[in-house]
Amino acid sequence: MDLKDIDRRYVWHPFTQMKDYENDEPLIIERGEGVYLIDIDGNRYIDGVSSLWVNIHGHAHPIINKAIHEQVNRISHSTLLGISNRPAVELAKRLVDVAPEGLTKVFYSDNGSTSVEIGIKMAYQFWQQLGFPRKKKFISLAQGYHGDTIGSVSLGGIDLFHKIYGPLLFHVEKAPSYSCYRCQLGLEYPACELACAAEMERLIEEHSEELCAVVMEPLVQGAGGMLMARPGYLRKVSQACKKNDVLLLLDEVAVGLGRTGKLFACDHESVSPDILCIAKGITGGYLPLAVTMTTDRIYNAFLGEYTDYKTFFHGHTYTGNPVCCASAIANLDVFEKENTLENLSKKIKFLENYLEKFRELEHVGDIRQCGFMVGIELVLDEVSKAKYPPGDKIGIKVIKEAKKGGVIIRPLSDVIVIMPPLSITMEELKKLLEVTFDSIRKVTEGDKCD
Ligand SMILES: *Cc1c(COP(=O)(O)O)cnc(C)c1O
Repeated sequence: MDLKDIDRRYVWHPFTQMKDYENDEPLIIERGEGVYLIDIDGNRYIDGVSSLWVNIHGHAHPIINKAIHEQVNRISHSTLLGISNRPAVELAKRLVDVAPEGLTKVFYSDNGSTSVEIGIKMAYQFWQQLGFPRKKKFISLAQGYHGDTIGSVSLGGIDLFHKIYGPLLFHVEKAPSYSCYRCQLGLEYPACELACAAEMERLIEEHSEELCAVVMEPLVQGAGGMLMARPGYLRKVSQACKKNDVLLLLDEVAVGLGRTGKLFACDHESVSPDILCIAKGITGGYLPLAVTMTTDRIYNAFLGEYTDYKTFFHGHTYTGNPVCCASAIANLDVFEKENTLENLSKKIKFLENYLEKFRELEHVGDIRQCGFMVGIELVLDEVSKAKYPPGDKIGIKVIKEAKKGGVIIRPLSDVIVIMPPLSITMEELKKLLEVTFDSIRKVTEGDKCD
């Protein structure tokens, strides 16, 4: 049997309607080179969404590859339960050095969902052990996404993914999304004066006695459709949390590691959370690793005599895996060696300018950009913002068209996402945008341009 038949027969793909997949020609990747993915037939594609938002410096980067090889030759895994390993220790120090002030403790896991689960349990147990038994609630945002485990799904607010699991979830207070395009409060920016932040403040005050933490994706709600916050929103929420002694948990799984133009999204508003979750880009997109960083204040509430049972009883088998940590250290090294963030600012500018061109397309309703994260929302009608019927699969049609042009992207329903590795060159970026533009035009205005 050929590889494609075996794939169709045996592999169950995530977030994929397998009935459609079984009838399509699978794309099977064999190699990567910089910003390119190369399939088993030798075709090259620009990795337009960084292999689902993880890749930072391109594929098969010599420095990261070398660090992984060297670590494998020393040891591939030893446990972090009660003992330690060299890369896990070194990485913890490196992260504390670059993270927002006050985040001094690093708790490892292996994916974004678990990094959030850990944050939830930490926040909850913190208040219990501090002597606030009533503090059991969380606030999160509508349209939020924090992963696919039951705790992180409880915090999530995307009906398409989360609704069916309703009976399995714990109750979470929902604040409105900070997104403007389809403002939940029905207001217009800037006349609204950030009413969504005021509403969040109100909720925090109302529930402060029972509230453990506010959980959100700072600046960009990624999986919710690349929904973006206005300047000042994060700062306001952070201040409200401080004022009411409620913890702030920031999920930087998607936005962290340079995606927004700074190493962490919260750096844009000089906000330092109580709990910070990082995953996707942390290893440069090479291996699964996540961290939940926190403060001395939270950490100290877990200290006690053995029989006080204040221990944080949480840990995954591969927690702090040395090969993953070695990859993450090399990732940070490359940030320094290649001046990744400095070089990124002109690419962000170029991207911003180029995106203006997309406005001339009839079915582009909104263009959202924060650093190197872009969402282009396709609509049936620009004026009424009417959506395409889901059965039109308009986003899927666009990415299929883009594939023919040598570009791999993946939509969020009708939002076309562009999120290339930070290392992409200007020429490659231009090609990615040209192909995306042409694909949107062909699919949405097809009969006119043929
Ligand atoms: C992807 C993502 C997660 C989940 O990470 P996994 O590694 O897929 O479990 C959590 N939060 C945000 C903001 C994400 O984008």
